[in-house]
Amino acid sequence: MSELPSPTGAGPAAAPAGATGCHGGAEELRRAAAAAGKSATLERYAADYPAGPHDQPQSMCPAFGSLRVGLRMRRTATVLSGSACCVYGLTFTSHFYGARRTVGYVPFNSETLVTGKLFEDIREAVFKLADPKLYDAVVIINLCVPTASGVPLQLLPKAINGVRVVGIDVPGFGVPTHAEAKDVLAGAMLKYARNEAGAGPVQAPRGGRNARPTITLLGEMFPADPVGIGLMLEPLGLAAGPVVPTREWRELYAALDCAAVAAIHPFYAASVREFTAAGRAVVGSAPVGVDGTAAWLAAVGKACGISAERIGAAQNQSLPAIRAALERARLRGRITLSGYEGSELLVARLLVESGADLPYVGTACAHSTWSEPDREWLEAHGVRVRFRASLQDDLAALAEFSPDLAIGTTPVVQAAKERAIPAMYFTNLISARPLMGAAGAGSLAQVIGAALANRSRFETMREFFGGVGEGHAAGVWERVPEDRPQFRARYAARLAKLEANRHAEEAV
Ligand code: SF4
Repeated sequence: MSELPSPTGAGPAAAPAGATGCHGGAEELRRAAAAAGKSATLERYAADYPAGPHDQPQSMCPAFGSLRVGLRMRRTATVLSGSACCVYGLTFTSHFYGARRTVGYVPFNSETLVTGKLFEDIREAVFKLADPKLYDAVVIINLCVPTASGVPLQLLPKAINGVRVVGIDVPGFGVPTHAEAKDVLAGAMLKYARNEAGAGPVQAPRGGRNARPTITLLGEMFPADPVGIGLMLEPLGLAAGPVVPTREWRELYAALDCAAVAAIHPFYAASVREFTAAGRAVVGSAPVGVDGTAAWLAAVGKACGISAERIGAAQNQSLPAIRAALERARLRGRITLSGYEGSELLVARLLVESGADLPYVGTACAHSTWSEPDREWLEAHGVRVRFRASLQDDLAALAEFSPDLAIGTTPVVQAAKERAIPAMYFTNLISARPLMGAAGAGSLAQVIGAALANRSRFETMREFFGGVGEGHAAGVWERVPEDRPQFRARYAARLAKLEANRHAEEAV
């Protein structure tokens, strides 16, 4: 959830030879992890979060997704096991985003990693933390190096003094984005809770069970959105259930105890697996815009066996207000859109229905069954949809379409501003707003309309900073630094030769 640089993992202690954390060596780490007994985990991640066309889009350390889910839950202790530099970056980012919780850390060195002492240290830390007066659950997250070294979190006790212990591997070389890492932990918790519910009575939700059947909402969203969704569901005789990832352990049971699941964010593969195992139907897309809301209400109604007449009544209640909100706040201008939260296609739909000319949407997440209705709708409206989009894809779209507004990640926004194109951060400014129903239609148009009108300010800024140079010469200098492209060319040639030799050796 960040517009911050990725936490770095430079030179982790006892990393396999050639491994350099998130800056390279992923193949080496994958091989090491498989050799250390983690192949089943890696195979499951490869199936849940398919790569391609790029191995891994450029985004922050994936483990942040799991860490954030743990830190947001009440009565949950979250502990990292990884290189100090990775933990530093992840802790910093957590507190930048107001975690207000302690991030636990079990440090290691080459010796404790290779002798198995690290696992004993983790075990000891979990036993010390597992106080039922303070915690419902302790979460342990193996980062890249402990995963590659096979630190066996699966051997931890499942519970200590009634406190659940949830150990997960979240390596950057196995989980492509921080969005999908949220699913790794949410899925592990749902699995645990499903087994508990299967074994006997479990805690009721804090406010008691809802009188109406509920729809569990899959994916973090703006706090007003579940309320708006609840209102839209009323004519169907349904109510909005918990949002997964949940904020409390007992909500997991209520989430499983639903009539159907709405995969608002389409990348929760492990969570969907648990809901499916619990016998729940899962519906894709979300109630965004007129077409999206009409289709979503119909799909939810159908999944819950509700009559066409009641579905029609629900549509008639919600659609006029959404249509009116979209009419009130028309957008004029060309926009390119990209991000790594997983909600990009929903935002794109809303922009198109608001009147924007949207030629491109890129998302760092993979294509899935749950994003298929959105892909189909967007492509039918002339939008190029790019899954697992790389920064290069997003920048190429910026160059190709010269938009009036670019919505994207930090480097995309930076590139747009350099061209005096108004730009907005997806994470901070778009995904922190309501998207659903009439509230979403109005709110998004307001902020984007204001940004579209900003071009003259960007031109003034470009003029103002026009004399400060670019690239190697950026800044105010007494003597402007001299560029030396010949050095870079020489190094590039040497590196290419080394790489070619390495490939040739591997082929022998
Ligand atoms: S845990 Fe892995 S992906 Fe994350 S910062 Fe460390 S090396 Fe990079």
